[in-house]
Amino acid sequence: MAEPTEDMTPFEAVNFFFHEAADQLRMPDATRDVLSGTYREIRVQVPLRMDDGAIRTLYGYRVQHNGARGPYKGGVRYHPHADLDEVRALASLMTWKTAIVDVPFGGAKGGVQVDPYELSSAELERLTRRYVAQISYIIGTYRDIPAPDMGTNAQTMAWMMDAYGQRAGHSPGIVTGKPVALGGSLGREAATGRGCIIVATEAVRDLGKDPDDLTLAIQGFGNVGSWAARIAKADGYNIVAVSDVHGAIYDPRGLRIPDLLDHVAETGTVADYPDAERIDDDAILELDVDVLLPAALGGVITKSNADRVKASVIVEGANHPVTPLADHMLADRGVTIVPDLLANAGGVTVSYFEWTQNIQQFHWEEDEVNAELRKRLIKAYQVVRDYARTHDTTLRRAAFILAAERVAESANLRGYL
Ligand code: NAD
Repeated sequence: MAEPTEDMTPFEAVNFFFHEAADQLRMPDATRDVLSGTYREIRVQVPLRMDDGAIRTLYGYRVQHNGARGPYKGGVRYHPHADLDEVRALASLMTWKTAIVDVPFGGAKGGVQVDPYELSSAELERLTRRYVAQISYIIGTYRDIPAPDMGTNAQTMAWMMDAYGQRAGHSPGIVTGKPVALGGSLGREAATGRGCIIVATEAVRDLGKDPDDLTLAIQGFGNVGSWAARIAKADGYNIVAVSDVHGAIYDPRGLRIPDLLDHVAETGTVADYPDAERIDDDAILELDVDVLLPAALGGVITKSNADRVKASVIVEGANHPVTPLADHMLADRGVTIVPDLLANAGGVTVSYFEWTQNIQQFHWEEDEVNAELRKRLIKAYQVVRDYARTHDTTLRRAAFILAAERVAESANLRGYL
C-alpha cells in the first residue's frame, strides 16, 4: 500500500482506508476492484425556476456504491462543493457504515451542487421535487432510500416523499428522516448527535476518563453538532467551544447550551453569541480540549494542522473530517480517533428503525428507539474496539477491516465475487 498523500480526493481518501483493510484481509484483486468502485452513478440536470422567474441550471448526483447487504442507503447533500467525487466518497462510507452497525443496507449518497441558504423555501421545494423526478428511476423502498445530510432536513424529506408518491403511490419508506407527522421516527432528528456522544463516552471510559472531567469542542452546529451538544451537556461534558459557517465561539468556563440554542433559534448562528469570546474559525480544531467533535465538513484536519490538534480524543461526527495523512500523524501521537463509520452511524441506525416502522406500519416510542440505538452502537463499538486491541491497530483500521470483510462475504454469497 502506497503512503497517503495530501492531494487525495475524498473518494481516493476513503479508498485509501479501504485498501489498507483489504491488504490486511489479503483480499483478492477482483474483490477489491468491485468494492473500491461504485455500482451506479447518475448526474442529472436540475433546471430551477427562481422566484424572480429566472432559470438556474443546477446539477445533482446519486451514487450507489454497493448493495450486497441490502437496499442502497444514504443522505442527500445540498452544498456548493457537492461534486461527483465527494458523493462517491460519501456513498462508499455508507457501505462500510451500514456494515459496521450491521443494518441490512448498502451504501449510496446524493447531492446537488448548490448553496441552500441562498434559496427561498419555494425554490428549495421546486429544486427537491425536480431532483427526485430525475432520480426516481433508481430509488425505491427496496432499492435506494435517501435521507437528510448537510443542507437538507426533515422538510426536504417530506417534499421528496410527496414527489415520489405522486408517481409511485403512498411510499413512506422511500425516505428516512421525515417529519414524525409523515411517518418519521421519533428520535431520528437527534440520532446522529446522540450516537456521537454514546460512542464518545465508550471511548473515553476505555481511556479511564469520565465525561464530567472532560472539555469538548464542536465544529458545526447543525443537526449533528447541535444535538451532540445537547446530549453531551446532559451527560456531563463541559462544552467550551462551538462553531458554524459564520464563526467560532469559546468560553473556557463552559457554554450555557440551552441559552446558546435559544440564541441560534433567534439569529440562525452561534457567531455573535454575547456570552463567549469570538475566536478564529479554524482555531476551534486546535483548542486545548480533551475531546474534539468535528461535525461540519470533510477534510478539515490535514497535514497542515494535525500537529496542532491538542485533543486526545477525536470523534468524527462529520464524514471523513481527517485526511489519511493526518490520520497517520495523529495515530503516531496516540490520539484516539473514533471513526466516522462508528461515530456518526446513529443516524443510519435510526433510519433503519424508521424504515422498518414504515414497512410494518407500526410506531415505536422514543424511549424504545433510543434504547435500541444505544444497544446497537455500543455493541458495534465494542466489536471494533476488541478487534483493534487484539490486532494492535486503530479503531479506524479495525472498523474498515470488519466492514470490508462483511460486505465481501455478502457479495461472495450472492455470487458476484
Ligand atoms: P447541517 O447542514 O445540519 O449542519 C452543518 C453545520 O456545519 C452548520 O452549522 C454549518 O453552519 C456548519 N458549517 C458549514 N461549513 C462550516 C465551516 N467551514 N466551518 C464551521 N462550520 C461549518 O448538516 P449535518 O446534517 O449536521 O451534517 C454535518 C456533518 O455530519 C456532515 O459531514 C454530514 O455528512 C455528517 N452526517 C450527518 C448525518 C445526519 O443524520 N444529518 C448523519 C451522518 C453524518
